[in-house]
Amino acid sequence: MGLWVTKQLRDISDIVYVGQIESFKHVATTDDWIEIGAGVSVDRAYAELVKVYPEFEETHQRFASLPIRNAGTLGGNVANGSPIGDSMPGLIALNARVVLQSVDGLREMALENLYIAYQKKDMRDNEFVAAIHVPTRAGQRAKLQFRAYKLSKRFDSDISAVYAAFSFIAAGDASREPRLCFGGMAATPKRAAHAEAILADAQWHEATAQAAMIALGKDISRSSTCARAATTASIPPRVCCIASG
Ligand SMILES: Cc1cc2nc3c(=O)[nH]c(=O)nc-3n(C[C@H](O)[C@H](O)[C@H](O)COP(=O)(O)OP(=O)(O)OC[C@H]3O[C@@H](n4cnc5c(N)ncnc54)[C@H](O)[C@@H]3O)c2cc1C
Repeated sequence: MGLWVTKQLRDISDIVYVGQIESFKHVATTDDWIEIGAGVSVDRAYAELVKVYPEFEETHQRFASLPIRNAGTLGGNVANGSPIGDSMPGLIALNARVVLQSVDGLREMALENLYIAYQKKDMRDNEFVAAIHVPTRAGQRAKLQFRAYKLSKRFDSDISAVYAAFSFIAAGDASREPRLCFGGMAATPKRAAHAEAILADAQWHEATAQAAMIALGKDISRSSTCARAATTASIPPRVCCIASG
């Protein structure tokens, strides 16, 4: 919201500050799930995630800056749902779920299904994000391979140009249940379905990786990148394509 004021010069009317609601700030870890309340700060949320997924350490260090990591929440990042937000691709690659709450009760869904289109979410007017559930490495997921990469112009205090997160379960030489998710490449955080189809149950060797990289071209194209840039920056896609060569 700070950026709406400082960059877009929006006049924000009444604000409800939810930063002191204690029940929003819980973290609970079971064998199967890490539950992170929507009001948990980005810094604390990543500190908890890193205990199970040390692969998130770099994201933890590079998400905005320390003051923002302490003031901003994981729930706010997820609810805002910016296509260049840092947390969604990693959480979606890990098969995280989001819990929505309203006076009618709780509703839970795969996080990727929350994002319908640019700034359009499957969230009703009376709903808010209550928590995020991230599966642990229990059972079959003990063999989960996970990587998360933030690409930006500066090491820290910079929003992602692209965020890429990959996971699969290693079964012998085969990769099971691959999940590839990108931020900054479309109007919403986007899974790479074609590349995932190549990797699913495939033997893990060079040819598979090459085929997956080619398939990635069907998932993510220059036009989708330009469309995303245009939607975020309000520039017509054609102008954006010309500008980016
Ligand atoms: C200088 C600066 C640097 C930043 N750098 C990064 C960065 O590197 N990576 C990144 O991803 N983001 C970055 N951000 C954006 C922002 O700080 C994060 O997205 C943060 O996680 C937002 O959390 P918040 O609690 O401050 O949400 P807010 O900004 O308060 O809210 C964002 C939106 O989500 C809604 N919302 C908040 N919580 C909920 C909820 N529980 N349920 C429903 N709706 C909700 C609000 O109404 C609002 O519409 C940066 C921001 C600034 C100002």
